[in-house]
Amino acid sequence: ARKFFVGGNWKCNGTTEEVKKIVTTLNEAEVPSEDVVEVVVSPPFVFLTLVKSLLRSDFHVAAQNCWVRKGGAFTGEVSAEMLVNLGIPWVIIGHSERRSLLSESNEFVGDKVAYALSQGLKVIACIGETLEQRESGSTMAVVAAQTKAIADKVTNWSNVVLAYEPVWAIGTGKVATPAQAQEVHCELRKWLHDNVSAEVAASTRIIYGGSVNGGNCKELAAQADVDGFLVGGASLKPEFIDIIKAAT
Ligand code: 13P
Repeated sequence: ARKFFVGGNWKCNGTTEEVKKIVTTLNEAEVPSEDVVEVVVSPPFVFLTLVKSLLRSDFHVAAQNCWVRKGGAFTGEVSAEMLVNLGIPWVIIGHSERRSLLSESNEFVGDKVAYALSQGLKVIACIGETLEQRESGSTMAVVAAQTKAIADKVTNWSNVVLAYEPVWAIGTGKVATPAQAQEVHCELRKWLHDNVSAEVAASTRIIYGGSVNGGNCKELAAQADVDGFLVGGASLKPEFIDIIKAAT
């Protein structure tokens, strides 16, 4: 009984006008109730309060990052405390774009997840292998190491959603097949079972991200261990509504 979770990661996109348009589309959509699907959209920091103020109350907002520790003299950063202060309930941590372009290590991501949770934020923690790692057969070793770095620092998993986003599928149009996604999600759940607890394995949402769209979401959603999606490009378009409805 894991509630289906659909996140929209807007990444570094949007103007005020575009953001308002997306929110209007979301607000007018007919979707299953919050008891059935949890919907979270993640605009850039500068639009968080605007989106929060305009968005329907059954949808929630997430920041795309936060600072690893308490705020202070860290120019350009945004702290977890600030997000809490603004009433932002969620944060995405460890997205592959930050891991690769900004050199965020597994350990740094683990520290960030733990700090954000300690401040009361809910966390979408991202993991995933590159094409090179998949082709060399190290997918499971890579995602297990990424998950371990989080598990080492986290004691309470109830506010964590784990997002499996294979790097080769992000923004490429090359979506993982339902079988490929299910295989990794199932292995990740087994990893949680063996290394954290049976309860955490059974209750933690493991969502898939990477070229999810209105056309491929239903088949992915039908996989036993796929508990939702983290959507990039398609979350800026009306087809995001179809993805919200994928499990129903
Ligand atoms: P795309 O859906 O654009 O492939 O991006 C996925 C992603 O990175 C979501 O965080």
